[in-house]
Amino acid sequence: ESIIELKNIRKCYDNVVAVKDFSLDVKKGEFVTFLGPSGCGKTTTLRMIAGFELPTEGQILLNGRDISVMPPNKRPINTVFQRYALFPHLNIFENIAFGLKLKTKEVTYRNKAGETMTRKEKLSGAEIREKVERALEVVDLEGFEKRDVSTLSGGQQQRIAIARAIVNEPEILLLDEPLGALDLKMRKEMQLELKSMHERLGITFIYVTHDQEEALTMSDKVVVMSDGMIQQIGTPEEIYNEP
Ligand code: ADP
Ligand code: ADP
Repeated sequence: ESIIELKNIRKCYDNVVAVKDFSLDVKKGEFVTFLGPSGCGKTTTLRMIAGFELPTEGQILLNGRDISVMPPNKRPINTVFQRYALFPHLNIFENIAFGLKLKTKEVTYRNKAGETMTRKEKLSGAEIREKVERALEVVDLEGFEKRDVSTLSGGQQQRIAIARAIVNEPEILLLDEPLGALDLKMRKEMQLELKSMHERLGITFIYVTHDQEEALTMSDKVVVMSDGMIQQIGTPEEIYNEP
């Protein structure tokens, strides 16, 4: 079952064609990686899915529906960037809970006349705490709530950025070179952790990297890009065996 479909996408900036003839079908729960050199259009494609950019031509469907009318903050999609943009003056709990505190849920109740009504309510403190705890478990940092950002290693900070991105239960997580700022040893470790997080969460991951080994290690499907176009799509085995 497809979750995201890109149909003949083209994206131009003035006289630059950043992405062209781009068609792709992403299945629910898949781990898909865009692989290619700097400037080949990976980030632009991700930004169109996230809603930060509109395609010049073509269509993006989410669960079969055109998402061009859906504002970025209404899409069940979150993004993790290369630089973990944590708030340095907030502790880990506050960093992860930040978005949840703005969130509302629909509650149904009966009014005095016995009619069923709905109203919007903020999440309770207990609900927020439970969600933050669960997100910390997923990234293997249980008990870090009270810690300060400055006491965490780069890899740990990036895991907190991931916890923050999954805490409101998106259907799709976009990851733009999330390991790019880490040293080699931490990167290798995080590759395996991200793969296991993906399996535990069961949500769709769309991942961007210029590192072939990273793409082949983690993904279900690799989309090889160059000059704004798809060169090849396949499983890591298929890509590895026919370079
Ligand atoms: P990648 O993520 O693969 O490094 P990008 O998607 O960032 O590639 O860029 C693809 C092409 O589009 C590059 O030529 C880049 O310079 C150009 N580009 C990206 N964003 C903009 C922009 N906001 N304005 C003009 N050109 C852009
Ligand atoms: P990446 O690390 O993915 O290659 P870049 O550092 O190339 O990203 O780009 C960072 C930001 O700058 C993105 O938002 C991208 O859209 C924008 N950008 C990239 N190339 C250009 C450009 N030629 N002109 C204006 N903005 C650009």
